[in-house]
Amino acid sequence: MSRAHITLAFAAALSFSVALVAQPPAGGGGKGGAPKAGATVEKIRTLKPNLYLITGGGANTLVRVTPEGLILVDTKNPGDENYNRVMEEIKSVTPLPVKWVINTQHHPDHVGTNQKFIDAGAQVLAVEPLKTFMGSDPRTKDIPGRPTVTFAKDYVLKFGGAEVQLYFYGPGHSGGDTIVYFPAEKIVMVGDQMTDAAPLVDFANGGSLKTWNASLDGALSMEFEFAIPGRGEPKTKAEVQAYRAKIATLAQRAKTGTIDTTDLGWTFQAAAIASMIAEAK
Ligand SMILES: [Zn+2]
Repeated sequence: MSRAHITLAFAAALSFSVALVAQPPAGGGGKGGAPKAGATVEKIRTLKPNLYLITGGGANTLVRVTPEGLILVDTKNPGDENYNRVMEEIKSVTPLPVKWVINTQHHPDHVGTNQKFIDAGAQVLAVEPLKTFMGSDPRTKDIPGRPTVTFAKDYVLKFGGAEVQLYFYGPGHSGGDTIVYFPAEKIVMVGDQMTDAAPLVDFANGGSLKTWNASLDGALSMEFEFAIPGRGEPKTKAEVQAYRAKIATLAQRAKTGTIDTTDLGWTFQAAAIASMIAEAK
């Protein structure tokens, strides 16, 4: 989920606009004012020894440091400034180059600076449908940096003594979301399969509410201390379970043909509700 999604996918399609995500704090945003919360790349934070989180500038980014170079997950919104800021933060903890980039899904806030990393000598690894959707989605087809290595379903990357497991559980937020697991560090990245806002089902790009929870169930079957969402702060297992339960409720209500989400704390536009009901039928 991102503001970019909402702006492009919904506001463009509808003549009215309803805020689906929390507004930035008062004083943030606006022309000439301070940047919106999360709009710029924030300071790098240690999750575990040799595993770091960089929020802001688009989707969350993970950095795994190995003696042979770095493994990065997700490359934020397009733009040299985002790339330069990410590299500045990385260089504050290690001089080593990024050798592998993993994308958790194809939206612009996850793949935006892929090409800069490819130019600097990295491989970009992703599930096959991610590459397909990146090439066909009007929001991403002109963004350079398609994945250079793809896999059909699951993949284990072993590099520099680190192991990263990638799992494709089928359609959810989009048709190409991947759960990324660091078994030694007990950290799982669930990407946009979980966010702080209402779930966005990108039906135009293979998304599905019906099968969404297969990914979260997969993640929940793993041993982890923290789950890293597409945006926002790291989550506990209990928080992932709670989000999964809300998705299940939403999917159940879609089958009935009416969706009331007041008690879930989620707000959807009419078009999104209609699509969820249509899929359930
Ligand atoms: Zn997304």
